Amino acid sequence: MSSKKEIWTRAHEVVRKYGGGARDPFRIADAKGYMIEDLYMRADRTKGFAQIAAGRTLLHINRNLSEEMQRMTCAHELGHATLHRRILKQGLLCEYDLFMAKTRLEFEANLFAAYLLMDEKEVVRCVREGCSLEWIAGHMDVHPNYAALIIRSLYDRGKLPKEMKLPDMPDCQFLGFIDD
Ligand SMILES: [Zn+2]
Repeated sequence: MSSKKEIWTRAHEVVRKYGGGARDPFRIADAKGYMIEDLYMRADRTKGFAQIAAGRTLLHINRNLSEEMQRMTCAHELGHATLHRRILKQGLLCEYDLFMAKTRLEFEANLFAAYLLMDEKEVVRCVREGCSLEWIAGHMDVHPNYAALIIRSLYDRGKLPKEMKLPDMPDCQFLGFIDD
């Protein structure tokens, strides 16, 4: 389990250290020495998964998804690989059947992905200019649920106007349910 602050710190750290400031999860994964494994599955709920095998970190990405969805999936799996290494080493992530624990892990990976993919300063600027959640998401090439997570996080940290109307919070496991 990681605190939101820890997740924020880890995501910004990988962008800075491994992405050269770029928010490209594939580049970051490569710089960290993680292997990207191509999956070719029907675009059902399996968008990807992370694995640690024989000391190597593998991010499996369904290449039948759209480019944007592959990018979001890679950022999410990078979140698992960064935050949940102990669980991945035990090989438990796929079979996790404790509902709460599973949703908590999904939430953490999604929050990590949101921090990795979106520039907070730009989000604050857009919100202050009155842009809608959907517009901000489109502008940053992410699903609106990621934009909702970031806006909520910025609001909780006092970075957005107190009187603003907050978007509804997405379901923890939303990545799996997005149609592509
Ligand atoms: Zn996940």
